[in-house]
Amino acid sequence: MIMDTDLQSLRQEVKAWLADNWDPQRSLMDWRIKLVESGWGAPDWPEEFYGKNLPPAAVNAIAEEFAAAGAVGSAQSGVRFLASATLLEHGNDDQKRTYLRRILTGEDAWCQLFSEPGSGSDLAGATTRADRKGDHWIINGQKVWNTSAHHADYGLLVARTDWDQPKHKGLTYFIIDMRQPGVEVRQLKQMNGHASFNEVFFTDAKVTDDQLVGTLNDGWQVAVTTLAYERRSFARIRTVTADRHGDGPIYAEYAKEVEIANEPYTWYPQRAGRVDLVVERAQETGAIDDPAIRQEIAKLLTLNQSAQWYGARLREAQKAGTTRGPEGSISKIAASNIARLASDVHTSITDIDAMLTGPQSPRDGIIAEILVSVPAVSIAGGTDEIQRNIISERLLDMPKEPRFDTGPFKDVKRN
Ligand SMILES: Cc1cc2nc3c(=O)[nH]c(=O)nc-3n(C[C@H](O)[C@H](O)[C@H](O)COP(=O)(O)OP(=O)(O)OC[C@H]3O[C@@H](n4cnc5c(N)ncnc54)[C@H](O)[C@@H]3O)c2cc1C
Repeated sequence: MIMDTDLQSLRQEVKAWLADNWDPQRSLMDWRIKLVESGWGAPDWPEEFYGKNLPPAAVNAIAEEFAAAGAVGSAQSGVRFLASATLLEHGNDDQKRTYLRRILTGEDAWCQLFSEPGSGSDLAGATTRADRKGDHWIINGQKVWNTSAHHADYGLLVARTDWDQPKHKGLTYFIIDMRQPGVEVRQLKQMNGHASFNEVFFTDAKVTDDQLVGTLNDGWQVAVTTLAYERRSFARIRTVTADRHGDGPIYAEYAKEVEIANEPYTWYPQRAGRVDLVVERAQETGAIDDPAIRQEIAKLLTLNQSAQWYGARLREAQKAGTTRGPEGSISKIAASNIARLASDVHTSITDIDAMLTGPQSPRDGIIAEILVSVPAVSIAGGTDEIQRNIISERLLDMPKEPRFDTGPFKDVKRN
């Protein structure tokens, strides 16, 4: 808990530090190095790993001071956020030193290599294999749906290292260098016209011992951490544009970085249903005068607001260490319900024109993009059915689903 007076003096400290150090004439990398060395780039991280060990209330206050000064922050977004959260919990000190700093500076981009053609919901059924050879591991197999893999320097990889163990026991979590000959990334085109996911093929790709995260054959526990952060992050509002403006070369570099990092995510606000557009659209089309549509809008805004409050409460509880872990599944289900309802409301407001795309269509095709992007929310990061299973089994302590896959994984029937 941080007191208001502490927060005020912290704000003064940040202001003073920014007044002495923020300079938009610097290069982005030069500034980020300064930021990382100061700890202000990741204030809630441990002091020995580029942070200041501060609570979440402080992080928000610091972000506000940065915004007020027009100062650029660290590069911790997208899968970089998942990678850093996972490494902070499970990585060893060498891994934290090697990778966390470059996540904050933006030197490395990351992707998540979990899903496979035969194991999405059943993630623990992964068959991509890691075989020991001398002092390293050889990776063979295929992943799919991997967002941003076409930009990534490193991947968070779950691979099978022991086929004699039961399904959840023989998996290991690795960091894999994506820029090596044994890794082939192929982009996939989606029904909304974007191409943000990939198939990734491994043919004798290599990972070294120092890239193993956690313990051998215990990668499932590490993967659960990544997934928990991913599900919680559905409650966040994603910004897709550079929100820093001003004169100075750093802003141009930053805008370029944001453009590349956000390229796979430009449709994510539409995927979330664009609740922010609903009232404006109802006003501009006159649908606001329709009592049935007004009811639906009220229902949507109420659900959306309560989900945001739940998300905020969850983030505080998580920092205070009072969560059980799987609560992010509730945020995820809420995000799906909100997106679906928003898509229905947009359709009622815009009527048949909601299907039009192109420059003369409503909102330049954004409404149509909502309709074909919303289904992804209920799939990404684990489907609605899987979230319900998690909530019932791990939060409500209801009986578990019957299992037919408890023996050695090599004997489990697949596909
Ligand atoms: C936008 C987006 C981004 C993604 N990004 C990534 C990424 O970066 N990295 C990555 O690894 N993956 C990523 N994914 C993949 C995502 O995690 C999987 O698509 C998801 O887990 C579902 O797996 P599946 O597609 O194989 O569906 P399946 O597992 O084949 O499921 C098919 C249907 O069966 C239902 N079902 C399955 N098992 C059960 C059960 N036990 N009980 C009840 N119903 C069940 C499901 O709910 C679903 O309706 C992404 C997906 C999307 C849509």
